[in-house]
Parts: sequence; C-alpha cells; structure tokens
Amino acid sequence: MFERRKTKQIHIAEVGIGSNYPVSIQSMTNTDTRDFKSTVNQIKKLEEAGCELIRLAIVDQQAAHSLKEIKKNTSVPLIADIHFDYRLAIASIESGVDSLRINPGNIGSKENIKKLVDKAKERKIPIRIGVNSGSLEKEFSDLNPVDAMVASAIKHIKLLEHYDYEQIKVSIKSSSVPVTIKAYRSLAKMIDYPLHLGVTESGTYESGAVKSSIGIGSLLAEGIGDTIRVSLTDDPVKEVLVAYEILKALEIRKKGINFISCPTCGRTEIDLINLAKKVEIATKTIKTSLTIAVMGCVVNGPGEASHADIGIAGGKDKCVIFKKGQVIKTIPEYQAFDAFMEELQSLL
Ligand code: SF4
Repeated sequence: MFERRKTKQIHIAEVGIGSNYPVSIQSMTNTDTRDFKSTVNQIKKLEEAGCELIRLAIVDQQAAHSLKEIKKNTSVPLIADIHFDYRLAIASIESGVDSLRINPGNIGSKENIKKLVDKAKERKIPIRIGVNSGSLEKEFSDLNPVDAMVASAIKHIKLLEHYDYEQIKVSIKSSSVPVTIKAYRSLAKMIDYPLHLGVTESGTYESGAVKSSIGIGSLLAEGIGDTIRVSLTDDPVKEVLVAYEILKALEIRKKGINFISCPTCGRTEIDLINLAKKVEIATKTIKTSLTIAVMGCVVNGPGEASHADIGIAGGKDKCVIFKKGQVIKTIPEYQAFDAFMEELQSLL
C-alpha cells in the first residue's frame, strides 16, 4: 500500500531486512542475560507473541558467554546489544549471536571498531549503528538534535564503509516524536541502508504505545522503515503486540486478527466493554487473517461491522453472532463469550 523506500538488503540469520522483505518486529529481553533460564523463557514468550528478532543486553563477558547456551535453546535470531566494550561484541560473535547493535558514540577508538568489524566480517554478522539522542558525541553538541543525530549516524556509517563493511542497518532514536520523525526523514534521503525505527524511552504502556504508534507509524506511512521496535517500560511481550497493531493498522501486515469493537453508546444493553476485552485477549495470538467485531447493539452492530468475518452484537439480555453482516445465532448474554469462541473456532 505504501511504496517502500528502496534499500540495500541484509540478513539476520534467516530474517531479511530491507525493502525486498516485510517490515520485521523486534523487541529486547529485560531479564539478566547471565540468567540463562529466565532469558530463554522470555525469548520463548516473545517468539510466541510474534517477535522476529530479539535483542539482549550484553553487560559483561559472562553475559556474552551465556549467549552460547541461549542460542542452543532458542530459534529466533538474536542481536547482542553492546555498549562501551568492543570485546563484548567479539565474544558475542564467538558465542554465535546473529547480529550486533553498537552505539558508536561510546564504543571507543577507531582501532577497536576495526577489530569488531573484522570479526563481524568473518561470520557475516550485520551491525546496527544505533544512534541515540541521549548519548551523542560532544563534537555534535552545537548542532540541533535532528542534525546532530544524522551527523553522528553518517560519521559511523562512513567509518564502517571505510573498513569495507556494508552489512549495516541504522537507527536514530530520540524520545521526542517530532525529532525522531524529522531525523529519520532526513537520513532516509542520504543513505540506502535499511532503517530500524523506534522512539526511545517512550514511557509506560499508554504513553509509549501512543508515541511509538505516531513516530513509527508516520514514517512507515511514508515508506520509511524496515524493522521496528516499540519501546515500553513494561513486559516486552506488550512491545510486540503494539508493534503488530501498528503494522496491522497501516495494513502492512494482514496476518492475525483485525479486532474492531464499537465505542458503546446509550443503545448498549450488555456489558460490552468486558466482553470486548475478553474476546480481544483470547484472540490475540491467532495467526489466521480475520476481522472480528464486538458490537454494542443488534440494531446497528451487524450492519456497522458488515465487513467483519465474524462478530457478536448485544441486545436486551441476549446477543447475536453474525458473519459478514448476517445473523447466524441468538444466545443469552451469559453464553456470549463461549458461544462466540466456539463459532470462531470453525473459521480457523
Ligand atoms: Fe451504539 Fe450500537 Fe453503534 Fe455500538 S454499534 S456505538 S451500541 S449504535
């Protein structure tokens, strides 16, 4: 629907990133990477939610070493997040990680970056240059935040290119939505590497979901962005669910449930809010493409949601189940959820 900006292509294990591939969803574990069991557990939950690439913080050599066991016990491509110490990047590659994210502003000397690049080349490990507005180099402090982030990204892209490395993707995240949008727009005109989109430190679930949806969504609607990470101060599984909602709202991804429900009004005679929440939770992980509607009244509901594959609408102490706008069943309100889920199963 939106014409994607043409980019180079990279691969993180089997996941292709760039304009030839679908926009992929990433998240990051918040367990201690050294705690192998909890990390594997969380990776599995993220994978189940639909996460396609998972990043882990590598805080020391023990965490880099732990990657080896984590890799053995999981199947999603893993990205090592490295700050300050290039040796952790090298150890992560040796442990079998599939990609690196470095913040070039804090990784140290050119020599260290060269050592890291040489190791990445050996195993064809892509590197994300992750510029963050909060940790820019001093040399850009006179520039406005947008230009400073872009200048930092370009500087580090050139450095990796200088070492003959092009397996690159880039992010330039700010906690300000307008700065993020402007920075990505500007960078997108200057380079053809794939872009990883995100609004950093965007807050807890509510504010984070809104900021990420506006920031990431605006750029995707302009064709900019090849992989996304919603950042929330919350369970990372929720990041994946929000990311999916962004892609579904833009009709970039059709896989899964397109959930619609009416806002309720004076005609609503059942506990619709509760029913809608239950249905939405119960159908979150369904992979089949279906539009499901939960509507407040029998009079308008089936008609307003006539495009839905299946829906339920409330009446006085009863509900109707409808398919493509046609009522197929009437049930008492107390049976609404179970009867609807049973009917839904026949479409999966
Ligand atoms: Fe009101 Fe019925 Fe429309 Fe829901 S579907 S907003 S209850 S008119």
